[in-house]
Amino acid sequence: MTKEPQDNLMEKIVALCKRRGFIYPSFDIYGGLAGFYDYGPYGLALKKNIENLWWKQFVTDREDVFGVDTVEVTKKEVLEASGHVGGFADPMVTCEKCKKRFRADSLDQARDKQGKCPECGGKLGEPKQFNMMLKTHVGASEDDASVAYLRPETAQGIFTNFKNVVDSFHPKLSFGIAQIGKAFRNEIAPRDFLFRVRELEQMEVEYFVKEGEWKPAFEMWRKEIHSFITAIGIDGNKVSELEVAEADRAHYSKRTIDFEFEFPFGRKELYGLAYRTDYDLKNHATASGVDLSYMDEETKEKIVPHVIEPSLGVGRSFLAVLLSAYTEDEMNGEKRVFLKLKPALAPITVAVFPLLKNKPELVAKAREVFNLLRSTFRDTRYTVAFDDNGNIGKRYRRQDEIGTPFCVTVDFDTIEKPAQPDARLNDIVGQDSGRSGGDQSVTVRDRDTGKQERVTISDLTEKIKSVLS
Ligand code: ATP
Repeated sequence: MTKEPQDNLMEKIVALCKRRGFIYPSFDIYGGLAGFYDYGPYGLALKKNIENLWWKQFVTDREDVFGVDTVEVTKKEVLEASGHVGGFADPMVTCEKCKKRFRADSLDQARDKQGKCPECGGKLGEPKQFNMMLKTHVGASEDDASVAYLRPETAQGIFTNFKNVVDSFHPKLSFGIAQIGKAFRNEIAPRDFLFRVRELEQMEVEYFVKEGEWKPAFEMWRKEIHSFITAIGIDGNKVSELEVAEADRAHYSKRTIDFEFEFPFGRKELYGLAYRTDYDLKNHATASGVDLSYMDEETKEKIVPHVIEPSLGVGRSFLAVLLSAYTEDEMNGEKRVFLKLKPALAPITVAVFPLLKNKPELVAKAREVFNLLRSTFRDTRYTVAFDDNGNIGKRYRRQDEIGTPFCVTVDFDTIEKPAQPDARLNDIVGQDSGRSGGDQSVTVRDRDTGKQERVTISDLTEKIKSVLS
């Protein structure tokens, strides 16, 4: 089994995502729009599974984190106070000849020195700050007073609800407020598929602590991020931490660690962990005139909590999961592609097939097995699908490519014990169809090894459950 060399891995992943219904470029029929992607049925399932694991680990499995879901259109005063209106900018250079714009910090060093455009070789202008927020207007008039922004991070909706959560729940410090949601950044150079997009999703916690306790909280979230990376099957050997230098940190941060992943296009930020101090609450208190301090019941002191923020991009998680899972090998003399996804992430956990589509008795039995598995896994995160499209070889290839851990095939042995072995069926299945397994048994095929095992229907759910747990 070989991992794909890095050179054309991205192309293969992008093609697989489109072919198999994971990711489609947005507005494809109109020529697309750079930096925007839609999730198809399997992509949505994988994305939801990533988000659900995050929500479980970062919110519901803990007693000290509260979930919220806040609006995306953001009042301009909020983003003025947070510093985004003045400071959420990247340096940008424009080519004087072709007028294309580039992020000054991402231009190739050698070309940069010569001041040449990477596209046409024209002269590049001086870097200018470019604010990355997407602007809109709320209400009928399009004047300065009606300006609003699509939020550039989910965090601000949390800070503006800090007092609401404290008043409703009276949580003791330390506690966090979390949300998963969209953020919008008018990136100068969207690129590398889901890595740098203009409409993205973030999974963020703002964790409020007493100032003197920020260091252990920072360490705690650092460990949680690593354990999440492992839980979703991102290759840990490709992840490293970067202590971000002061000059490169966001305007609000006193310490930031970037969790970087070795993407095929370079080692780049996957997630961030930042110590935001009391910057946001203080600024919102000043700008809104509302007291956002916290009454410490033990010391009877009013304090403004400090904040640790683990910030994880959904799209970058998705891409790193796919890059870690993508595998090519050879099976029965044929090249095969499969996604070695963790079962908890796979869009489909078990696919049930009738060996032949045109045999009603096989289809009926396969439906029975499908219904049995579906009712067993109904209240779990696992999903069961019925698939009778194309021949059995094609179905295996399709399920391998979407990362389905188990395929269950109903064949003639399942419904009738044959008088004598039928070599023809072995040819159809591609391996020993397990004729000796007897009645009421099915073939269970493992995605990673391709091994097929005969299992009686009565043992099937326990067998699959034991492998999943
Ligand atoms: P970069 O330096 O790559 O632009 P950033 O430092 O601006 O990223 P943060 O503001 O720390 O990113 O955002 C937190 C997380 O949100 C990132 O670690 C990443 O997972 C995700 N993210 C940020 N910008 C984008 C984007 N344009 N496309 C996809 N995900 C993004």
